[in-house]
Formats: sequence, C-alpha cells, structure tokens
Amino acid sequence: MITQRLLSLAFASADVLLEVDGDGRVDLAIGAGPVAELDPGTAWVDRQLSEILGKASRVVVTKALADLAPGIRSSPIDVLVCCDDNRVRRACLRAFRLPELAPAVSCALTYEGAAFDLVVPSASPLLDIQGLVNRVRLALEAGQASDEIAFAFVNVPGLTSAADAVNERVGARVEAVLQAASIDGSSVARLTPEQFALLRKSDDDNDLAEEVREAGAAEGVTLQPTSTNATMGSGLASGLVVRALRVALQACIEDGGLKPDAVFTKSLAHTLTEAERFSTMVRGRDFTLHFQPIIDLGTGNVNHFEALTRFGNQGPAATVAMAEDLGLIQGLDLAVIEKALAQMRRAGSGLIKIAVNMSGASLANDDYINAVLRMTQRTPEIRSRLLVEVTETAAVGDLESANRRLGALRSKGIKVCLDDFGVGAASFEYLQKLQADTVKVDGSYIRDLVTDERLRIMVSHLVELCRSLKVSTIAEMIENEAQLDTVRDLGIDMGQGFLFGRPAPEPVSTPYGAAASAAVARRQGEVQDWG
Ligand code: C2E
Ligand code: MG
Ligand code: MG
Repeated sequence: MITQRLLSLAFASADVLLEVDGDGRVDLAIGAGPVAELDPGTAWVDRQLSEILGKASRVVVTKALADLAPGIRSSPIDVLVCCDDNRVRRACLRAFRLPELAPAVSCALTYEGAAFDLVVPSASPLLDIQGLVNRVRLALEAGQASDEIAFAFVNVPGLTSAADAVNERVGARVEAVLQAASIDGSSVARLTPEQFALLRKSDDDNDLAEEVREAGAAEGVTLQPTSTNATMGSGLASGLVVRALRVALQACIEDGGLKPDAVFTKSLAHTLTEAERFSTMVRGRDFTLHFQPIIDLGTGNVNHFEALTRFGNQGPAATVAMAEDLGLIQGLDLAVIEKALAQMRRAGSGLIKIAVNMSGASLANDDYINAVLRMTQRTPEIRSRLLVEVTETAAVGDLESANRRLGALRSKGIKVCLDDFGVGAASFEYLQKLQADTVKVDGSYIRDLVTDERLRIMVSHLVELCRSLKVSTIAEMIENEAQLDTVRDLGIDMGQGFLFGRPAPEPVSTPYGAAASAAVARRQGEVQDWG
C-alpha cells in the first residue's frame, strides 16, 4: 500500500519515472511515453539514458548525473525525448540520488507541449524588402485594411554563430516557424542575418519568440529570440504606404539595432507626416515660383524663363526628391503649371515663355498630359509659350508610352526639353526614343567643360547630333565667361546660369552682353522662336 501511495505521489509531479544505474543504463521505467505508441517499460529499459534523449540534451544530462550529490535533487534540465519515429518531445528532467540506492539515480520526466517532427520542414524562400512591401501592396489592393496587417520583427541573436550544419538546420527551422506564422505562409523577409520581418494579422497574439525558441530547442540549440510588433495605422492608401514601408524597412536595416519596431514605427510615421505636409502644401498652393532667364547665346536676349519651385526660402531639391520617392510629384508638377500659366496671363508679363519641370514619373500615365491640355483648353495659343522639361528621365519606365504622351503635348504646340541631359549611353537611348525639341546639357558637364578636353569632344558630338536631329541645345549652370566662351564655341544654342541671372520672384528680361545695350530699343512682349 505504501508503495502505491509513494508512486501516486511521484506521478503527481511527473509523467514518467526512471531509474538509471551507475553506467547510465535505464533499469526501470514506468509511466507514460512521449507518444501514446511508446511504452517506456518496454522501449527504454536496458537502453542508455543518453540514447533516449536528443543529441544536445545528452551532454548536459550526463554531466548533471555525474555531478549529482547524494540526497540533493538536481535543478530542472530541459531535454528533448526521442519518440523513435523522428519526432521529439520537450520535457523537464529532475534527478535524485537516494544514498541507500547509490550509484543508481531516480529521474522524473515531465513532458511539455506535443511531440513534433525532427525533420526540417521546407519553407518558402525568404523575401527581400521589396518583396515584403509587394505583399503588403497586394493585400491592400485585395481589400485588406491597413490596420489589419502588422509587422512582426524577430531578432534571433546567435542564429548564425553555431557550426555550419547545425546552423543550417536551425536556420531552416526558424524560417519555417516564421513563414507558418506569417499572413499567407510566405511573407517573411530577412533584414539582417539575425533579424526578420514578417507580416501577421494584427490580432495574432501567438508568442513568436517562444515558437522560435522551440525551433532552436528542436535542434538542441538554445536561442533567445525577441519579437516585437508594429502596426501601420488605418486608412492608408497603397501607393504611398508601399513607398513609406520601403523607406522604414530600409531604416531598420541601416539601424541594425535591437529595436527595429521602434525604428520602423518612427520612420513610417515620419514619412507619412512628411507626405501629408507636402500634400497640404501642394493643395494649398503654399509655394512660390522663381524664374531664371535662359539666354539665346546668338543674340544675348532672353529666350524664355525656367520656373523653379520654392518652398519658403528653401531650394526644392530635397522636397522634390522626397515627393518623387513617395510618388507624389505629379501633384506638384501640375500645381506649378497652374502657377506658371497664371504668371503668363498676368497683365504686364508680355508674351514671355516659361519652361516648367516635370518629373519623368509623371509620364507613367495620361493624367499629367490630360490635365495640362485641359488647363490650356480655353487659351490654346498659350501652349506655344510653354515648355516642359523632363527631369528624372530615369524614372520613365516605358519609353514608348512616354514618347506617345510627349507627342500629345507637342502636337498641341507645347515644347518638350530633356533636362539634365548627360553624355552616357542611356542618354542616347532617351534621345532616340523620346522625341524632344530641346536638350539641356547637365550642369555637372558644363562645370568641367573648360578644363576637360575629352568631355568637350563628347559634348561637341552631342551638340552635332542634336543639330542633325533638329533638336536645340541649352547649357545650364554657366557661372563665368570662360564657361560661356566654351559653350559658345561648341555651338550650344542657349545658356542658363548665375552669369545671366539667378532665379528671381519675377521673370526679369535683362539681356546679356552686346544685346543689353540694344535692348533699350526692343519692344517687350515680342514672341521669339524657341531656337
Ligand atoms: P533643374 O531643373 O536642373 O534646375 C536648375 C537648378 O540649377 C536650379 O536649382 C537652379 O537654381 C540651379 N542653377 C541655375 N543656375 C545655376 C548656376 O549657375 N550654378 C549653380 N550652381 N546652380 C544653378 P533649384 O531651383 O534648387 O532646383 C533643383 C532641381 O529641383 C531642379 O533642377 C529640378 O530638377 C527640380 N525642380 C525644381 N522645381 C521643380 C518642379 O516644379 N517640379 C519638378 N518635378 N522638379 C523641380
Ligand atoms: Mg529644369
Ligand atoms: Mg539640371
């Protein structure tokens, strides 16, 4: 009776009781197996204890048993118990050596969780940032609300430090766990070797870190992962959020720290705030235009003005770059045209001609073209005084469609200029595929033209090529006489730069050089040729 009562007490805190002899052999095993099919009494007796444990548990357990002082119970040891069918089950082992029974050791095993497969599951390949962001775009486009998707960031320190073979298996296991936890089973990206980002449902509150820890334990490796969640907020449009996400994930990679969720959330909020600020500014027309003269190098007269955006007192370069990145530039480009047209229509402006900048991204659809034609519909004659400078030609994806759109402008009398034109191979492709009236040679070339003979030769061929194609040329950023002489010698038609005049709040038609004295006699408002 006493034996049964002791046994009952023992089973109150253990699933299986084992007695191991001095050589580590199991003498006695009673209780439940790790899986129903396995009876410890028959399967484990006479086998080495180490044989029934997972590889990584063996060393720890053997050492713990050897160090065990009689009458003292060991601390709990996390082990994996083999199920003899490739599965393992996590368990906690406690050992006790009764002095009267020494060297035998009594062990109690308590199982934790269900048995799982030791074969490394194969998972979908990991994504890069762009791939992950595309998943978000697809989900949003499929009608998922932005606040239903969360980003989980999982750091797994030490993941890549184990020996190669183990490392590979642990890595595969961790990946499989993360993929299984992701929104569609395949939305995990690797940010750094030991840091992952995945998309989850925002109401998924499973403990990812614990799942990853178990994946490591399955290979006998102790991982100490951390997992944090970040949400995107509600009501976000896919175009903007996708770009903002890319920026935020990139920020996480660059930061490389242990708080990717904080970096992510901060970056995302910052980008979205900036975007909102920009859109409000454009909507409220809260910017001004400055006008810089472009001089006909043959006569010294002002041929036209370039309209350059000013946000307060600041130059536009950083804001324009951000708006291009976030896909918001078209709104600005159209608002600029609106202001430029208002300037041209203003009494006292004469018949000045104005060039506006348009980002190549605006050529991706018909919206920009249609809007420009609509804005000039009632006064179509104004179109012949308008020139569109295509900046960021690299952002033009489909050159053929872009050319068709530029053709629509040109057929209505609006001139087209390729801005920031270079001497590289890509430029020749643009020139071949995008029919333009004018090419503006990039300021960086003009700067070096005086001293760099090879560059002069290349630019002179470009000018010749343009002339053959009946395309006029402008040199920008001419700052001194030496540069002016050089571009004149090269046969460039028009010039722009601080030498002739800085961008100013009003278009000022001050001619340059010899033309300046003759200008007094000139009637203002005469429409010149575009050159
Ligand atoms: P961009 O179209 O190539 O404009 C010429 C830039 O060179 C202007 O800078 C102008 O102020 C500057 N510049 C002119 N002459 C000289 C010179 O002699 N020396 C030097 N160092 N610089 C000179 P800004 O106004 O800061 O504009 C920068 C860029 O921002 C523009 O380059 C254009 O790409 C973009 N941008 C300006 N306004 C708009 C706009 O309304 N829409 C778009 N999409 N882009 C714009
Ligand atoms: Mg320009
Ligand atoms: Mg430029």
